[in-house]
Order: sequence, then C-alpha cells, then structure tokens
Amino acid sequence: MSNSESIKCDLCDYQFKVFSRQEEELCDREYYPVIRYYPLPEENAHLVRNYICDTCYNNIGNVIKQNLIHAGEKYLNEVESRKTKKLTEYLKYLQEIDKECQEVKTYCDKLKSIGSILELDKQTIKDLSSMYSNKYPHSEGTYYLEHALDIEKITKHNMKEIRDWEGECNIEIYKYPDGYGSWSVVSKEEFKNVLLNSEIENMNTRKIVQLVDSI
Ligand SMILES: [Zn+2]
Repeated sequence: MSNSESIKCDLCDYQFKVFSRQEEELCDREYYPVIRYYPLPEENAHLVRNYICDTCYNNIGNVIKQNLIHAGEKYLNEVESRKTKKLTEYLKYLQEIDKECQEVKTYCDKLKSIGSILELDKQTIKDLSSMYSNKYPHSEGTYYLEHALDIEKITKHNMKEIRDWEGECNIEIYKYPDGYGSWSVVSKEEFKNVLLNSEIENMNTRKIVQLVDSI
C-alpha cells in the first residue's frame, strides 16, 4: 500500500506496475476518502519492510550480501579523502597556533627589551591590558597594567593626579581640556599646560597665566 503512484523494490529499485483503490482514512474522528496504490498481483511483490520484487526475494541472501559489501567498500574508498580533509583542518589549526605564538613572542620580547612599562606604546598597552583582545595570555598584569602605569608615574617620576595638583594650588577646575580628567596623572609641566587650557572657578585668563608662572 502506498499513497504514491510510484512503488519500487526497496533493494533494486524495480518499478512495480500498480493499481489504485479508493479507501477511507480516519482523521479527527471522521473518515475521509483517499486513493491508495498497490502493486498488481502479477508483479508478485513481497511486503517485507517495504515492497521487494520477486527476483530480489528469491535471491535475497546474495542481494543483501552484495549490498553490505558495497556499503563497506564505499566507506573504505572514502577513508583517504576523510583523512586528507582532517589533515588539512589539523594543519590549519597548527598554523593558527603558530600565528598566535608569534604574536605573543613579539609582545614578550618587547616587554623584555624595555627598562620601564612607561616606554610601552599606546597600542601595546591596549593589547596587553584588554580583557577582550586575546592577543596575549591573561594574568594579573592584564588587569593592573593601566593602574601600574599611573602609579609608576607617581612613585618614580614625581607626577601627580590632576586633582592633587589642584589641591596644592587651592583651585578647582570646572572644565578640563579634551583627554584629561581629575584622575589623569601628569607632570608639573603638563599640569601647567592643562591649566592654560582649562576653565577654572573665579579665574580669568590673566589670573591663570599668573598662577602658571607662580608654580
Ligand atoms: Zn528487486
């Protein structure tokens, strides 16, 4: 029985000649008319799992043996191309690791070559301190690098946070120049430059220049 007009031998694809019959199908507790197809009786089709032709049925041991051999040989023939494909993937993966290694080595060599972290360029600092860059293995250094740069400026280079310079001068900056904030660590000279480009409470330009000269 089939809902399709085309019924084939499951083993050799032989197409059976068929006849149709009007039947009923139960759906949602109601019967509906359907057309169903069957192999003609003279085809001598055998319903095993699906229909099998008479020739295959009478020779089924051999047919199934050949079918299994064919499946095995197909598998064996595909092994080499599967291996080649996996090898290509593997080599590509190794190349990626090599590329990463090279990048890490470059940063590592750069770190070894400098006397102080303050010599690091902006891009390197960004790559080494970013949790998202994945260009260098993460460590405490990833999280502390930016802080370390500021602290090193304060402890080794007599620099201060701008808010500390402000405190020393008894002033309060209203508006900092672009790129600066109260937490920026700067040298005295840089702070003077910041003052000249800031808006300061109760001070006009003349007063600011006087202040800068007095520092
Ligand atoms: Zn057949």
